[in-house]
Formats: sequence, C-alpha cells, structure tokens
Amino acid sequence: MSLKGVIERINGSLVVAKFDEEPKMGDLIQVGNLKLMGEIVRLSDESTYIQCYEATSGLKPGEPVIDTGMPLTAELGPGLMGTIVDGVERSESELWDLTGPFVSRGTNIPPLNRDKKWHFNAKVRVGDRISGGDVIGTVQETTSFEHRIMVPPNQNGKIKSIKSGEFKVTDVIGELDTDSGVVELTMMQRWPVRRPRPIRERLPLNQPLMTGQRVIDTFFPCAKGGAAAIPGGFGTGKTVTLQQISKWADADIIVLVGCGERGNEMADVVNTFPEITDPRSGRKLIERTIIIANVSNMPVSAREASIYMGITLGEYYRDMGYDVVVLADSTSRWAEALRDISGRLEEIPAEAGFPAYLADRIAEIYERAGRVQTLGTDERVGSLTLLGAVSPPGSDFSEPVTTNTLRFIGTFWALDSELAYRRHFPAINWLRSFTRYMGVASEWWSNLDRDWEEMRAKALSLLEEASQIEETARIIGEKALPDEQRLVLLMAEIFREGFLVQGAFHEVDTYCDADKQTKLLKIMIEFYNLSRPIIGKGIPIEKVRDLSVVKSLMRLKEEKGVEPIAEARIKMRKELDGLAEEYEVK
Ligand code: ADP
Repeated sequence: MSLKGVIERINGSLVVAKFDEEPKMGDLIQVGNLKLMGEIVRLSDESTYIQCYEATSGLKPGEPVIDTGMPLTAELGPGLMGTIVDGVERSESELWDLTGPFVSRGTNIPPLNRDKKWHFNAKVRVGDRISGGDVIGTVQETTSFEHRIMVPPNQNGKIKSIKSGEFKVTDVIGELDTDSGVVELTMMQRWPVRRPRPIRERLPLNQPLMTGQRVIDTFFPCAKGGAAAIPGGFGTGKTVTLQQISKWADADIIVLVGCGERGNEMADVVNTFPEITDPRSGRKLIERTIIIANVSNMPVSAREASIYMGITLGEYYRDMGYDVVVLADSTSRWAEALRDISGRLEEIPAEAGFPAYLADRIAEIYERAGRVQTLGTDERVGSLTLLGAVSPPGSDFSEPVTTNTLRFIGTFWALDSELAYRRHFPAINWLRSFTRYMGVASEWWSNLDRDWEEMRAKALSLLEEASQIEETARIIGEKALPDEQRLVLLMAEIFREGFLVQGAFHEVDTYCDADKQTKLLKIMIEFYNLSRPIIGKGIPIEKVRDLSVVKSLMRLKEEKGVEPIAEARIKMRKELDGLAEEYEVK
C-alpha cells in the first residue's frame, strides 16, 4: 500500500511534507493535487524533504503527497533509440503533442510507447536454463540497430514458454520457471537510475576510443570504457567537437545528455542532431542515438536526475554487449543543481557553496564508465565511455567542479578560447591537455606502427620546445634566433597546420583514420630528422622553409587516402637531397 502525507511548506522546488509512516529515501513521490513528480532527498525526525521535478507554483500546504514506493527508475526496452526524452524519461515529442510547447505540469506519460508493436525474434527454447542478463531474443529497433532483449538481472530459471511475433513492450513473450514460481517475461524492464546496473566483472581497458580526430586519437586518446572531460567555454567549439565525436567515434550507441543547459542551447542540439547523417550507415545518426534534454519547463534543480538517467540507459545498451558513449553536457550545470538542492536543504556548504559530498557524487558518476563482462552466461563484453563537458565560470579551471572532475577522469581535452579566437579548431590545447590511457593507446597504435610512441613523444616535445622558443622570439624577434630553433618553430607550424587543425566541415578532413594519422605523423617527423643535419651544415632555414614539400605537408590531411603521403615522401627526399647537393657544390 502506498504511503500518504500532506504538504507542510514549499521552498522553490523543495517541498516539505509529513507522512503517516516514514517513507524511504529516494522514493518517487506524487506531489499535490497536480501529482507533480518529486523525489525524497532527505528524511528528518519529523519531516520529509521532496525535490520536485516540476515547477511548484500554485502548490499549497495541506495538499496531499503520495509515495509510489519506488525510486526514480528508467524503463528499458525497445523504443528508446532515436527519441528525445527529458530527465525523467518522458518523451519530449509525446509531451509536446499532448500539451504543446509549454508542457503542462503533472503530465505523466510512460517512457516506452505502450501501443507500438515490435517484432520479437526468440533466441532461446523451452527448457533452456537462463540467468539474469541472458539474451532471450532480439528486436530490430531501427534499421541500424538490433536490440537484444535480456532477462532482468535478478532472475534465473528455466524457460517454460517463449514465442516470436509482433508484441507490445508490455505483452508477455514467455514464462520463466524460477525457484519462487513462474515469472512472466516481457520486452521491458525497469532499473533505478541512481544505482549502477550489475555486471559480471570489470575488465581492463584495452583499446582507445577512436574518433577520427587527430589531436584526440594521436595525442590525447580516451580509452573505450574510460572517462574524459572537456571544458567548454562559449565559442570554443564544444558543440562541434561533441558532434564530431558522436558522429565518428567507433561506438555503437550514443547517449547525449543535456543536463540543464539553457533551453535555447539544448534546442539547438535537438534541432541539429536529428539532421546529422551517420557516416557508418549513410542513414540518420539519430537512429543509434538517444537524447536526454530538458527543453520543457522543469526547474533547473530538478535536472540533476538527467545525468543518472542517461548513464542508466547507456548501461542497459552496454549490457547487451555494445560499445556506448555517453556525452554529458554539462556536468557543471548538474553540479549547480546539486548545489541548489543542498542550499535549500540548508546543508553546510563547502568550497564555492557546493556541498561537501560533491567529490563523492562526481566520483560515483565517472565510476559508472568501464569495460565489462556483462551478466549472463554468454560471453558478452560491453563498454560505457563517459565524456563530460564542464563549463567552469570564467574558464577558471581551479574551481571545484573542474578540479574534482580531473581526479576521476583519464583524459582531459582542454578547449582553449585563444586557439578558437585564432580559428585553430579543434581548439584543444596540446600543452594543457593530458591522457592517462597512454598504456592502452600505445599497445594498440604500436601494432600499426612500432615507432608510434616515439613519434608521438617527439612531436609533443617539439611542440613544447616551440612554445618556449616563441617566448624568446617575442622579445628578440624570430630572425635573431639560431636556425636550429627556427626549424623547431617551422616544425610546430607544420604540426599545427598539417595535423592538429582539422576541419569538421571539410569533406575529407572531417575524419582521419588511424593509418593516415600515423603516416602523417611519420612523414612530419622524417622531415624534421632530414632537415636538421642540413640546417646543421649551415643551409639557411629560409631555403628549407621555401621547399614546396613544406606546403604539401600542411595540405596532405585534405587529400584522400594515404597515396599522396607516399608521393610527398619521395618529393621530400628529392628536394632535401637537392638542397644538400646545392650546398656541397658551393
Ligand atoms: P561552442 O559550443 O563552444 O559555443 P561551437 O561548437 O558552436 O562552440 O563552435 C563555434 C564555431 O567554431 C562553429 O560555428 C564553427 O564555425 C567553428 N568550429 C568549431 N569547431 C570546429 C572544427 N572542428 N572545424 C571547423 N570549425 C569549427
């Protein structure tokens, strides 16, 4: 039986109520006559504190509250792919159809469409022994995506009946004989969003998440199942970068969480995303994407839930054995929501007004990333990579959300407004970014080219050296520098123009495969290795700089395939040999 109570007072989105019996922390509550959705965030001796997911205006003390007896849960099953849902998993388009753009409060619609029929293809037979997580059949959810229907994590038994055919998500598709009786199987399951879905075993990360973006893949890779942070000041190219990753990352599923971004920013994503073509299938990217966005009129503080919703949906697809990327934009807004709730609860604030448990909450979120052996008897491996955008106020990376995030992630892509201003895109600063997944990346890349690690290190050290030389050049002028140093500056220019800068809107350059990345890096390093002795012999840097191969090195990225790189290599040797000969003759 559900517990009932009455509202005592209301403070913004926080509602204080009194129940006849003590309810459970985290339970979902129907608040007031409008039955607004809320969640219990604190219990004290006398009162229950409920965080409302919807605006509370008009709510009055004395109105009833009803405990649903369940925490905030996600409904999991066919029908999620390609949809846009809000932080509590209500379909935005259905809400819109139902109530118009100003979603009326208290509108409760089930997350999964109850009327739509799906073709279920049974993969198990009567008598089969199965346990939690096992796949019992499949549904072709979209043209590009096969949904694997799994037994809920906590169920074991023998298949008593099972049938293929057209079913709604709530229809019974089979029965399971368990120790505690017969359980009906449907295509849908539920999971509380704040609890990680169970797995069999965590596996070591063993592969970089390739994105086709050179500065990321070559210099600051993230691992499949790893976690990365990307700070996004306005205009630094955060949106374009996240879109490029969504489009090109070698992942099966993308979950995009817009946690509490301003309405118009989210509207942008919601409008542009469905138009993006999936380079893998030539169809729409949205066919393997789920977007969680609060475009409706929910209070900011209530949007805190959306990140958990996104991760839970991601985990569900990971459990099927897929590689999932969850992009959370932005975790700073999520943390602000946390601060807002904490403030209303009158908790003692810590640094910058955030609650003392901020670090724990951030850790809990990033810990849900990983590469896992899933539940179930078949050997499925899935991964969830978590990429969190942070938007530090005033680009101050020493504020608590950024500093705490840095403790728990493996890769940091430092977007830099100065680079963006110079139209160096992606504006990822190569001196301030880092990756802790070098072990994983080196092993993978070294299979492609055993010199990879050395080449990468050399390129980074030249870039670093160049930035120091630039400091001096600013004072004494470039021409006054020794030619060896000017060669380093030239190299930095080649790396910047020919490698780091990558045009998201360029037909060829938008994606660069691993093979081409290594070959580009290799030819650039080789150019340095061959030019250095020549400069050492006294040939002026201007002569080297004027070689036509220098221009080619900066343009190779825009040419299709790797053939032009091989041709440029021949040209490079010829031109440098020519220069050396010319010098010796003199
Ligand atoms: P933010 O979301 O950080 O405010 P955007 O992602 O919208 O910034 O980027 C701002 C502009 O910068 C874009 O409209 C685009 O012109 C340019 N830009 C960003 N990234 C790239 C890229 N990789 N290639 C080319 N142009 C880019």
